[in-house]
Amino acid sequence: MTDTASAGQTPALLGPADVRRIAAELEIRPTKKLGQNFVHDPNTVRRIVGLAEVSEADVVLEVGPGLGSLTLGLLAAGARVVAVEIDPVLARRLPTTVGGRAPRAVERLDVHTADALRLIAADLAHPPTTLVANLPYNVAVPVVLHLLAELPSLRRALVMVQTEVADRMAASPGGRVYGVPSVKLAWHGHARKVAAVPRAVFWPVPNVDSALVSFVRGEPPAGAERRTVFAVIDAAFAQRRKTLRAALATWAGSAQRAEQLLRAAEIDPATRGEQLTVADFARIAAQV
Ligand code: SAM
Repeated sequence: MTDTASAGQTPALLGPADVRRIAAELEIRPTKKLGQNFVHDPNTVRRIVGLAEVSEADVVLEVGPGLGSLTLGLLAAGARVVAVEIDPVLARRLPTTVGGRAPRAVERLDVHTADALRLIAADLAHPPTTLVANLPYNVAVPVVLHLLAELPSLRRALVMVQTEVADRMAASPGGRVYGVPSVKLAWHGHARKVAAVPRAVFWPVPNVDSALVSFVRGEPPAGAERRTVFAVIDAAFAQRRKTLRAALATWAGSAQRAEQLLRAAEIDPATRGEQLTVADFARIAAQV
């Protein structure tokens, strides 16, 4: 293995042969269940790190470091990396991979063998400032929402997700893809789809397209608690073709009560949830 870091150069990122070799050494077969599609293209890693604007001042939370492709790029930018990997075989190997390529960076790497969906602030010695991850696609939205709720230190994020999910995360009211992920993410801040990523950069090649989403935290709307607002959002989109008067009937107790709350929030009860901004949802929740 090349020790380029000790020669004062940027640590060598993992290419296709490295990824195959480490996977063979570990005798792993990437599973769909854990969304294991590993990036084997250094240019993609550099692009992600650049778009994430990672610097030495950052503590990066990386969910699912896998074989370490992105981890090496993040460490090369000078950041501290807190890597959370659910697969114990991959988590155990990560410090060895980093140590072989960038020995001096190992002290800036913390590895947690854990489910990101269960992570809480108390688990981490260094509060992360930014989330940068090639996310496991089947749990991408729950992971992002969970981490934004649990880790107030997170101010921004740059995540790779399935293109369809990227479109939902960044959608504005009124569109066909605007839904629960769009509004709940808007509660925490502003999401934007920033780039498409070709399938060929992954091993194994996934059967869906991928895209990068950039996120910056903002102030949530005032006046109501997140849990209450999210309950209204869930109710509104559970029956998205219905008017809000009908869709919110169970949540409010009756259609009549839903209508009262909507009118008090100055929202037409005949509107559908897909027309409302997160501030509108917060106004409805504030009437309870
Ligand atoms: N970052 C690596 C890369 O770019 O090559 C791997 C990304 S792969 C798409 C997703 C990774 O997330 C896998 O390593 C998988 O084991 C891990 N993973 C899946 N579910 C997870 C969870 N709930 N918490 C933490 N890691 C998870």
